[in-house]
Parts: sequence; C-alpha cells; structure tokens
Amino acid sequence: MNTVRTRFAPSPTGFLHVGGIRTALFAYLVARQANGKFVLRLEDTDKNREVEGSAEHLIASLKALGLQYDEGPDIGGPYAPYKQSDRLDIYQKWAQRLIDAGRAYADPYTPAEVQKFREEATAAKKAFLYRDHRPENPPAWDGTTPLRFKCEPKAYAWHDEVMGDLSTGPEVIDDFILMKSDGYPTYNFAHIVDDAEMEITHVIRGQEFISSTPNYLNLYEALGLERPLLATMPPIMNEQGNKKLGKRDGAKDVLDYVRDGYLPEALVSFIATLGWNDGTTQEVFTPSELIAKFSLDRVGRSGARFDEKRLLWVNGHFIRELPLDELAKRVEFFWPDSAKKAEEAYRHRVLELAQERLKTLRDLPALTSYFFEEPTRNDSLVSENKQLKKLEETEITRLITAAHEALERLNEWNQDTIQEALNQLLETTGQKPGTLFSLIRIYTTWSPFSPQLNGTLALLGKETTLKRLSVAQ
Ligand code: GLU
Repeated sequence: MNTVRTRFAPSPTGFLHVGGIRTALFAYLVARQANGKFVLRLEDTDKNREVEGSAEHLIASLKALGLQYDEGPDIGGPYAPYKQSDRLDIYQKWAQRLIDAGRAYADPYTPAEVQKFREEATAAKKAFLYRDHRPENPPAWDGTTPLRFKCEPKAYAWHDEVMGDLSTGPEVIDDFILMKSDGYPTYNFAHIVDDAEMEITHVIRGQEFISSTPNYLNLYEALGLERPLLATMPPIMNEQGNKKLGKRDGAKDVLDYVRDGYLPEALVSFIATLGWNDGTTQEVFTPSELIAKFSLDRVGRSGARFDEKRLLWVNGHFIRELPLDELAKRVEFFWPDSAKKAEEAYRHRVLELAQERLKTLRDLPALTSYFFEEPTRNDSLVSENKQLKKLEETEITRLITAAHEALERLNEWNQDTIQEALNQLLETTGQKPGTLFSLIRIYTTWSPFSPQLNGTLALLGKETTLKRLSVAQ
C-alpha cells in the first residue's frame, strides 16, 4: 500500500474558520491514523483575494490546535516548495504537456465576446458552455491570454468517501481555465498538479468543489493521472440548523477561542464531532482517541450544527479532566493581577477549588479574584437574583448575622465543620439552601460565580469570612 498522504490546502484569504479547521483536522487524523504524512500547502494563486498576514495566521491556528503537519511552506519537505506561487514553473510544465497533447488552447475571447455567447445561449434556451465556442485555429499560447482545457464530455460515476456514490452526465463537463493571463494557474488546475506531484492519496475538502469534480475527473484522465480518494465535507450549519454557519452566528476565529480560554483539545473534540461520531453515544474524544477511532465513512452527509453551548460544555469537561499541575500551566495568563502576588501554594488551592466550575480559562478572575483581594460590594447581585430579590432588608440582615454567629462559634475551620454549621443554619433560620447559601456566597465573594460554598469559606479563612459577613451588620 502507498503511504497515506493527506493535505490541507488553504488559500491565505482571511482567518481560519471552523469549517477550514475541520477539514484540516480530518486530513490530519486520516494521516496520523495510517502513520502517513499530513501536508500543508498554501494555495496563493488568487492574488486579488490574498489577505496580508493570513498565511502566518493559518499556521499559528494549526499549531495552536496541535495539528502538526509533516511538510509545509515553513518547514519544507521532500516535495517543496509548498506554496503555489513558488511553483509556477511546475504548472507551466504541466500546461505544456496538455498543449502538446492537443488538450489545451489559448482562449482568444474578450469578456464582451463571452457575454455575447452567453446571451445567445439564454435566448436559445440552452446552457452556456465554453466548449461550444472552441476557436477553430487558436493562436499558439503566449501567456497573454488564458489557457483553457479542452475537455472530453462524458458521463461519470465515482465514489466520494463521505457523500457516497455520485454520478453526472456529459452536460456538466466543460472547458475551464488552466492558466490565467496573469501567469498564475487556477485552483482547478494547480491543485490537481500539486496533488499528483506531492503524491496525495486523499483529497478532503469542502462542498464548494463537489460540482466541479466531474471536470477534475476529466482533467485527471487527460493528464493520465490516477485520481486520489475524494472526500467532501458536509456543511456546518448555525445553531438552529436552518442555514449555513456565518460569521454572525458566533463562530469566531479559532485563535480567538484559544484567547478566550478554550483548550485546544476541547476545540479539537468539538470540531471533530461536527458531523462525525464513532457510532456510540460518546460525545468527547481526546486527540489520541480521535486518531484511533476516526473514519471518513462515519462523517455524516447532512449539515452539522454549530452549537456554542455544547462547545462550552465540552470545554468545561476537558478542564475538569486536566491534572491540577497541567491546569496550573494553562491558566498562567488568566489569573487576576492580585493573584500573581499571592503565594503559589495558595493559588494552587484556589485553582483546585475552582476547577470544577471553570467553563473557560477566562472565567478564572470572576471565579477567584475575591480570594486575593477585597471584593467590591455589588448589590445588584442580590437585587437581580430571583430568590434573593424577594427578601426584605431586615431578613437579609438577620440571615447574615445568623451566619456570622454560627461560623464564629467554629473552633475548627475546614470544609466539613463549615458544612455542618451551614446545614444547622438551614434549620435554625428555616430558609431554603438556594436562598441562604446564595446570600452567604454573595456576601463573602461579591461575585456572580464561585466554587462550592464550604470550600470557598474554608479557603478564605475564618477571619476573612467573618469580616465580610460583618459588613451587613
Ligand atoms: N484552496 C482551496 C480553498 O482554500 C482548497 C480546496 C482544497 O482543499 O482542495 O478553498
């Protein structure tokens, strides 16, 4: 068997969106699973659409998610160069082969002439096809006009690893541009040349190319190439599942997710399951589980829903699974400033307590700053709380005073003794835990979130807890 070689072939035209990352991830998984090679190729032949800095950004995004490629523009490899604009002589050579075989011609028409052909076809109620207008004696191609492929219309039946068996008739086959007059090849031509030269075995890409596939099959034949396996990704839909995911649906640049405190392994698991499952109900997968279990034939054909709430849940799951030392490394940049001055051992204990509740690393300050600094009183936490806003001011004072008294009596200050005192307090005050514990939590932290109450108070220490509960008196 040939070595499996997959590629991710983005165009540097903007930030890497979640659909692009999914394509990269699946290509990566297919390669890793087969001990093959994963190649990064930059398809930068459309100079008008190129966005400055996006190649670096793409590379940074792949690295941030741990999708390490084996060959690529910045690291080289046996099939270098990996950037299409550095491979122009290669496309010239392949174009010449087609010219020599009588399978490509200089396109002599101006845009106005093509427009006229189109209008004629519309008037005759016929589909417009370039191949109906092949020039009889085209001039030799000198690079100042486009070079067009001379197709051989025929029906095709082929297998797509995801979409299944597909077929089309000869009417979809047409003459398409191979080389543009600016000297650059089209995507349609360049990717076929590069996949062949780079010995790519699996072409995994988005659906925007599926309608052109019969034309690609025609070109593979004209070049005498065996085609690689083709796998077309299903679309990614918005949360409601009623339209394709757009920028407005909240899908951000993947590096923004990382900056916002999402773990790479959570993003990878979430993105892998946009359209793929392993046939069980398992919802989260570590990178090594993905390498072991992924298969293209379990990628669904219909659209996958992008649900940010699920991403948040998956992220919380991966945060809880991290060993504390590892979590400590990951949160380094997310601590509030006041925490940076604290003892490392204390920070570690705070993190241990907060780990259970962290949904993103960025929640860390909200969840922990009151361990390191005096919180600022924020009465809206009480007045906007469903349970607490019903309480009279005097009732609040009574409850906080009772809590102060009960906790003050404790000789031993730990999670268990505190919990016991809190439970007794429920009985003596006749309040529900949802009300009483929220109130104590708010008065001791002034934060919308905090870890479990007894653990929080234990770590705050008796003195600080009592001081904060005195404020109400
Ligand atoms: N350069 C193409 C794009 O970014 C890649 C398509 C492919 O993977 O072949 O859309």
